[in-house]
Amino acid sequence: MRPDLLNPLFAETAGLKGVGPGLSRPLERLGLTRIRDLAYHLPDRFVSRRVVSRLDEAAVGENIVIALTVREHRSSAGRGPYRVLAEDDAGDIVALTYFGRASYSARKLLPPGERRWIAGRLDQFGQTRQIVHPDHIAEDSSALAGQLTEPVYALSEGLTQGRIAALVAQGLEHLPTLPEWIEPGLLAREGWPTWRAAMLAVHKGTDAAAHDRLAYDELLANSLALMLVRAANRSRRGVPLHGDGGLRARLNLPFSLTGAQTRAIAEIEADLGQGAPMLRLLQGDVGSGKTAVALHAMLIAVEAGAQAALLAPTEILARQHGETLTRMAAGSGVSIALLTGRDKGRAREATLMGLLDGSIQILIGTHAIFQDSVAYKNLALVVIDEQHRFGVGQRLMLTQKARTTAHCLAMTATPIPRTLTLAQYGEMDVSRLDEMPPGRQPIDTRVVSTERIDEVVAGLGRHLAAGGQAYWVCPMVRELETEDIAAAEARHAALKLRFGDGVELVHGQLRPEAKDAAMERFASGQSGLLVATTVIEVGVDVPNATLMVIEQAERFGLAQLHQLRGRVGRGSGKSTCLLLRGETLSEVGRERLALMRETQDGFRLAEEDLRLRGGGELLGTRQSGDTPFRVADFDQIARLLPLAHDDARLLMERDGGLDSPRGQAARTLLYLFERDWGVQLLRGG
Ligand code: ADP
Ligand code: MG
Repeated sequence: MRPDLLNPLFAETAGLKGVGPGLSRPLERLGLTRIRDLAYHLPDRFVSRRVVSRLDEAAVGENIVIALTVREHRSSAGRGPYRVLAEDDAGDIVALTYFGRASYSARKLLPPGERRWIAGRLDQFGQTRQIVHPDHIAEDSSALAGQLTEPVYALSEGLTQGRIAALVAQGLEHLPTLPEWIEPGLLAREGWPTWRAAMLAVHKGTDAAAHDRLAYDELLANSLALMLVRAANRSRRGVPLHGDGGLRARLNLPFSLTGAQTRAIAEIEADLGQGAPMLRLLQGDVGSGKTAVALHAMLIAVEAGAQAALLAPTEILARQHGETLTRMAAGSGVSIALLTGRDKGRAREATLMGLLDGSIQILIGTHAIFQDSVAYKNLALVVIDEQHRFGVGQRLMLTQKARTTAHCLAMTATPIPRTLTLAQYGEMDVSRLDEMPPGRQPIDTRVVSTERIDEVVAGLGRHLAAGGQAYWVCPMVRELETEDIAAAEARHAALKLRFGDGVELVHGQLRPEAKDAAMERFASGQSGLLVATTVIEVGVDVPNATLMVIEQAERFGLAQLHQLRGRVGRGSGKSTCLLLRGETLSEVGRERLALMRETQDGFRLAEEDLRLRGGGELLGTRQSGDTPFRVADFDQIARLLPLAHDDARLLMERDGGLDSPRGQAARTLLYLFERDWGVQLLRGG
């Protein structure tokens, strides 16, 4: 049970003052449904403003606070902006510019003839100086005194900085005082504040010690939870599975296994034969042949008289797996079925019966395969594909679904560096497919300046005319997701104008059915070009697509670029990846793109990625999404994770039941970071 102490943090944000239906949607979209989430919605950065008395004291692009006298309002005909002309004490004019509905507030807040204090960013528009959508307007300067440094938060449609800042401030009033879970020596040595003080500090301004402390909390919670899982797993009894090799011998694969695949299968077979349930991660780059390994693992289970299930993160991936595995296993006589959320009625009933009576031996599907209504005769192995889409908590629940504790094989194509493997999968044993099947053609990767986009489009046209297919990837880098989508939509419209129908668009805000339908038209060859934000990262397998264009490639992380690029080069044809880069490129950006040209080794790229990002390169805010952490950044992971890991191990050695006062505090920590499944395991789970 969650300690009562944490209740205020887990109260709904919907209960805050001023949160009605209009705000709860945007908050939900950002994942801010509870006070806890608001508190951990840390600012992306801070804006600092300078008070100036005259416009000509400020530089273009500077954030200022200045007193202005309002002169006149000018609404433009049609869709142009609304402008309020105002002058400083020296008589210099600046335009306060509003787009769309924001102009209503201008009419109210800026009466002609009145003097107002304005905070905002000074820009130049042609000959005119302007401030677009001033951040604050006040009647006297004291109202802005507290706003000279302000946090900038990630937003979603329907939220403004002012709104979210006010909600965070309201949320912070509810912070409890929590017991200390960090080892006192470490706390003193690092000079870290208490949890509560740190939380308040990070919303006020840049405070490295406070941020480190909160990051450390997160890393410690993670390490500790994973260790609890590992310990619990060791003490648990599973069903040893000994396959006689009969089914595997009848497999009729069109290739022989690579050394890495053979090794991984041997490791899995050894695990499956043990008393304790397997908990193993299979790491292998896109195209390294994880599916064949999964099939072997599942056949071992079936040979031993049990059932196996494979969980895919999306409908389309489940179907693809269903087809591939059925084809691969054709000669073996094993019965394979597919079950997704879309299956209804008779077909679904038949599948459920088959699972219950054991006539279906292997089930492939989305999370629908673990619904309560789905009962297995004797499920003994769960394979989870594209593991990184599922959290540890989720995968625990999945394996516990089996009546005995099932063996678990998790697979991921995300090449991550060793430190992160520890952080993300610390409870698992790891097999790596570090060798590609023979005969892969290297992908011709080129870096091209955006200035040459017309040539790129022309080349794309020739590629499509020759019957080829291609991906066009737009980045997700802006503060507002809708702006990214707008950019992708604009690109889609332009390409459609040029190439006609048969240009698809997919992005994160499409309904799943619409997304699947677009993907399917592309996968079936009906459409030649797929414009996408990064949602194509995982899964899709279209061998005929041999060209990829990535816009603003410098804004992506290396690992992400690598995964995107892995969508091409899947057939026998020669593939090309064009990395469009902006006109100005930082040193790190240059290095990153050069590495992409140089190597196709995902593990190497992952290590380099961490090194380069640890160096403090600022990427788009959401680009850090490929770690299990929300607070800790790459630099903190590299610096603090080893400490947290050792600390967690020490605590486990001394107090594996988390009963001591510090152990109790650690339980609070686990609940705070919603690693409560870790705590639940303590009671024999
Ligand atoms: P991933 O690891 O990305 O899931 P897949 O399992 O989809 O990779 O395999 C990618 C492709 O490589 C498939 O077409 C598969 O048939 C093929 N493949 C797998 N193993 C081998 C092998 N040992 N030799 C040749 N081709 C292989
Ligand atoms: Mg795969």
